[in-house]
Amino acid sequence: MRYISTRGDTPAMSFQDAVLTGLAPDGGLLIPERIPDLSQEVEALRGADFVSLAAAIVAHFIDDIAPADQRRLLQDAYASFAHSDIAPLVDVGEVSVLELFHGPTLAFKDVALQLLGQLFDHTLSDRGGRLNVLAATSGDTGSAAIAGVQGKSNVNIAVMFPYGRISPLQELQMTTVADSNVHCLAVHGSFDDCQTLMKQTFADVDFKAEHQLGAVNSVNWARVLAQTVYYAYASLARDAGDGVDIAVPTGNFGNIFAGYIARRMGFPIARLLLGTNENDILAGVFKSGAYRRGDVHQTLSPSMDIQVASNFERLVYYVEEGSTHRVKDFMATFQRDGAATLQFDQVREQNIEARAIDTRTTLETIADTYRQHGYVLDPHSAVGVATALQLRGERPLVAVATAHPAKFPDAVQRALPDVSVTHPTLEALRDLPQRVVELPATERAIRGYIETHVA
Ligand SMILES: *Cc1c(COP(=O)(O)O)cnc(C)c1O
Repeated sequence: MRYISTRGDTPAMSFQDAVLTGLAPDGGLLIPERIPDLSQEVEALRGADFVSLAAAIVAHFIDDIAPADQRRLLQDAYASFAHSDIAPLVDVGEVSVLELFHGPTLAFKDVALQLLGQLFDHTLSDRGGRLNVLAATSGDTGSAAIAGVQGKSNVNIAVMFPYGRISPLQELQMTTVADSNVHCLAVHGSFDDCQTLMKQTFADVDFKAEHQLGAVNSVNWARVLAQTVYYAYASLARDAGDGVDIAVPTGNFGNIFAGYIARRMGFPIARLLLGTNENDILAGVFKSGAYRRGDVHQTLSPSMDIQVASNFERLVYYVEEGSTHRVKDFMATFQRDGAATLQFDQVREQNIEARAIDTRTTLETIADTYRQHGYVLDPHSAVGVATALQLRGERPLVAVATAHPAKFPDAVQRALPDVSVTHPTLEALRDLPQRVVELPATERAIRGYIETHVA
């Protein structure tokens, strides 16, 4: 399988090159040159364990790593998960909750980043060389990326986060990691400043090449690929002949896009139900075709406080049936005007329905789910469950749970004042020493740090 850019101006490349490249040099996103059809294999995969299912799926996307190595990398990636099913389904009333938070940092990002860390290590060991990952985080990505590459001798990682503006638990999850290849940078600025600093640093192609910089954000194709597995897994487990509907709390469109790919591969997924918080630009697209940027609102589900979804361009490519010039037009119009429109009948054909869930409904969903079923949802997962309940039809209903509730104690406390949720992994961090470097929000400071301490 070769990988091409949504903008059409990058030569096709192999899987391992796509993983190391991250964002395509023409500014587009990398996608497989075709989506493999697994419909003939689906029946045989019913009942397969998670790693076997993963091995069957990724084999269609990777032809430059030997199959036995692929399986070993998957096994090593998921050995760090605390639940033997990796992604267990738990029945909570009429909704089956797909728990994706049993990895080392208790959020769904571990599913992809544990595998990405293994892939980096494998490719670099094979080819020689090192990678210096630079990441910006507003919370969950940083700790999951660190956990993915922790202790890997050929990868260093520097994570920027806004000083004083992420939750204390999320900060501890990063700064208490003792490995010397991990650097936590508390930047005196906002999350947007961190992201701008990252883009500026990557935009300097010479600096990027000289310092072997790599990226782990959700535009990396390996992250999408790893996530397709749990959609396949849940659909096979719950399908009763007519497919399942799956609700997904959404920010950057990375998670739900993996569900879209799983369905196109032939797994029995009927509708994808997209839930946003008050940052509802994506909900708007699926109601009218109009993609229109607004102001970012701070909500109870901070990992979804995103207006411009970095993975949406991949869907635009499929909606536009692979026309790279129409993708480029759409993205250029959006860049210029802050708004662009897709043909609504073409959007509707994708079978994605959307709802924006407000703060009140999120809190009510946490409270009701606990009162009726004794199950505590985190605020992101509550957006998914609320979306599932609002859009439910006749088919089996799955809602993706993206974080353990103990990661977001303040929101849970607001909904359930008498309930306290804790997790031993998080409690254990409270007494550990922290390692963090404070830096001003300037490109010079970041580059200087990379030159002297990371590369
Ligand atoms: C990152 C994240 C999301 C949003 O995922 P996308 O791929 O950006 O849509 C939702 N919930 C949690 C807990 C997250 O960490």
